[in-house]
Amino acid sequence: MAITSLLSAVSRRLEGKVALITGGASGLGKRTAEVFAHHGAKLVIADIQDELGHSVRQAIAGDGQNDVTYVHCDVTDESQVKAAVEKAVKAYGKLDIMFNNAGIVNDNKARIIDNDKADFERVLRVNVVGVFLGIKHAAQAMIPARGGSIISTASVSSCVGGAGSHAYTCSKHAVLGLTRNAAVELGQFGIRVNCVSPYGVATPLATDFVGLSEGETEKMFGSLANLKGVTLKAEDIANAALFLASEEGRYVSGHNLLVDGGFTIVNPSFGMFQYPDDH
Ligand code: NAD
Repeated sequence: MAITSLLSAVSRRLEGKVALITGGASGLGKRTAEVFAHHGAKLVIADIQDELGHSVRQAIAGDGQNDVTYVHCDVTDESQVKAAVEKAVKAYGKLDIMFNNAGIVNDNKARIIDNDKADFERVLRVNVVGVFLGIKHAAQAMIPARGGSIISTASVSSCVGGAGSHAYTCSKHAVLGLTRNAAVELGQFGIRVNCVSPYGVATPLATDFVGLSEGETEKMFGSLANLKGVTLKAEDIANAALFLASEEGRYVSGHNLLVDGGFTIVNPSFGMFQYPDDH
């Protein structure tokens, strides 16, 4: 292998791959789109924020260095999810990577006795039904190809209580359940199914929710974090998705890749391992 193509294989880990990213117009999805394109993937960005989606597409496409398409797709609408998958296959010939990343939050403060049924269902429709439809239609395209990588964005709320609203926590536990069940079914076709579970990242979703600036949101997440001295960035989630999408993750399936600095394994009630202040 010539040295240039060897270097390209190492540095462009998704060369020749086709990826569809839902919620790709903002936050984690947008950063993942940039990282995937940098690694040579052809992309379909799907979102409901069309203006933003088109501008992200344009920025990534540059002067034609990258193949990127934007498609309006509300993940709660089956015909739109089906059409987005079909668009990827029509534009680029196949679908190798599906990133079910679109998601929403709702009011964290609402006690269960005050929870509104319609609001609960709204969160589940996007965060669970949306992921279900993404897995279903990606599988439709991937089964004949006997391979593919399906990744969904869950959260630390996929495995601990108290980090999100009832609806959000329930929805992210469900994403993990769907991931595991689909991994069991689709393994026979060489399709891997995983999820990524971030701790707090100061994306528009998070800053809107906490009502603070990006910097203040990062500071707030940092104060509650287990791992100190490191600020979790959208790029860290994009790199986790890259690992699951690429050859490096070729035997990883049914996995919940927590990118949380150990947040979910801490039980703060013990308060052990205290160091004196001057240490
Ligand atoms: P974001 O709001 O910046 O991006 C989410 C994108 O999803 C937006 O562009 C939005 O338009 C899109 N979207 C919302 N509803 C949609 C629908 N019905 N159909 C299609 N697209 C839709 O938020 P983010 O922080 O990047 O969130 C991405 C994912 O990460 C979500 O699933 C969220 O639950 C998860 N997550 C975020 C954090 C965090 O702290 N930011 C932590 C854990 C998990």
